[in-house]
Amino acid sequence: MNGFRTILGERGVIEDADDIDPWVHDWRGRYHGASRAILSPATTHEVAVVVMLANEMGVPLVPQGGNTSMVGGATPPPDGSALILSLRRMNSIRSISAQDNLAVCEAGVILSNLHDAAQAIDRRFPLSLGAKGSATIGGLISTNAGGTQVLRHGTMRALVEGIEAVLPDGSIHHGLDALKKDNRGYDIKQLLIGAEGTIGIVTAGSLRLVPSIADRAVGWACVASPQDALALLRHAERTIGNVVEGFEILGDDTLAAALNLLPGARCPTQTRAAWYVLVEVDLDAVGGPSAYERLESALATAFEKGIVTDAVIAANEAQAEQFWRIRESLSAAERSLGPALQFDISVPVASMPAFMIDAAQAAEQQFPGTTTSSFGHLGDGNVHFHVRAPAGTDGPSWIAQTGPIISAYVHDRVVAAGGSISAEHGIGQMKRAELGRLASPAQIHALRAIKAAFDPGGIMNPGKLIPLASEA
Ligand SMILES: Cc1cc2nc3c(=O)[nH]c(=O)nc-3n(C[C@H](O)[C@H](O)[C@H](O)COP(=O)(O)OP(=O)(O)OC[C@H]3O[C@@H](n4cnc5c(N)ncnc54)[C@H](O)[C@@H]3O)c2cc1C
Repeated sequence: MNGFRTILGERGVIEDADDIDPWVHDWRGRYHGASRAILSPATTHEVAVVVMLANEMGVPLVPQGGNTSMVGGATPPPDGSALILSLRRMNSIRSISAQDNLAVCEAGVILSNLHDAAQAIDRRFPLSLGAKGSATIGGLISTNAGGTQVLRHGTMRALVEGIEAVLPDGSIHHGLDALKKDNRGYDIKQLLIGAEGTIGIVTAGSLRLVPSIADRAVGWACVASPQDALALLRHAERTIGNVVEGFEILGDDTLAAALNLLPGARCPTQTRAAWYVLVEVDLDAVGGPSAYERLESALATAFEKGIVTDAVIAANEAQAEQFWRIRESLSAAERSLGPALQFDISVPVASMPAFMIDAAQAAEQQFPGTTTSSFGHLGDGNVHFHVRAPAGTDGPSWIAQTGPIISAYVHDRVVAAGGSISAEHGIGQMKRAELGRLASPAQIHALRAIKAAFDPGGIMNPGKLIPLASEA
């Protein structure tokens, strides 16, 4: 550890077991690792020298930001062979410009801090998620994170204009320039986005900002089915244009769990339905019909067409926040219903409504006693599909014994529907074997070839993303 201490100083090397402990378990508490130390560089240069030394010594590194990975991506292996490389000290916003619509952030900047900084210059970074108070720019880039605004603004792939990174040999990729056009062959930036720390350490990113919201309206609509929910989205897009920024679906059972969990919360509409949609319309500029008027007109005509059965638009910001509070509580609400297997899946958008119904019925039939629910980003073809354990079951042993069988069943259906077993959370260690089982030989070959080309010594985040020889 002396070599690392020489580079980083006392502050940059944490060896106290109590200080290390919170960072060797994943957010869901499913993976438990071990590490002798957390290395905590403060500059890109320090990252480069640390990586060079680790490469020489053959010491594996696990890059870590906020440790909010849903797939055990930032948890070190349990044998203690790897060191954690935390980027959390690299937390400065190097520059932010309304003129360029750009923020250059170091990897350890927490998402909500970027939101605040952008707001201060009358701009916004249009990506948000439940872990925004902990998730870092480096982690968001490395998982190609999504969230609730992908419909209009895309995932991190669409929002990252440039990347600075340290590659596994310790060399620095200086790629922060935000070029609109750049055709110099392979795009290293896009290779690093979503690479889950397996081919390099992201030290900073140039991120696209958009105008702050000039006017917004948030509505809650009752629909009879996911098919009608999708019909509402297409109807809204056709009638009011590309201003629908949020479009989230949930079932009545999920709503009931949320209302149970949130003190004082109530269903926004007078009537209940089988399904609900939370819809947000955002205008970048004022002029013409307001966001409220546009949403009201879309919902009224959808009502006339029989697509929605009831709807309400938040009368003010406080009410809009109440609607979103329900949406943001859904993961916790679902957890309160007992042990469950949670699938973060996508299929082509047009196929998602039927998938939600068919897969739920099929899973409940195939595994008697289980109950299912799905909620989330319908407009992106991405829902969180949950299969809950039969009542009275011991959660951990049910997950250990039946989990792999149910996972394989659900993933097979996803693949048969032309979908992905990881829509936004990545592969990490949780889905590595399933990726190996289901990906095409060409995809596995490409993943391994890229990994080997960048990281021949295999020091970058071992055990994550790339299926083992026995798994493919
Ligand atoms: C409540 C909650 C809600 C969530 N909602 C969403 C959602 O809506 N959409 C979504 O996409 N995700 C969501 N997530 C998952 C998670 O927040 C994202 O994956 C996030 O991008 C992880 O950021 P992090 O800084 O915590 O990264 P970590 O968890 O620390 O790391 C994630 C992965 O990135 C790697 N990594 C981290 N930093 C770097 C770096 N600087 N360079 C190279 N590799 C690095 C790690 O090794 C690991 O593989 C949610 C998580 C929680 C807990």
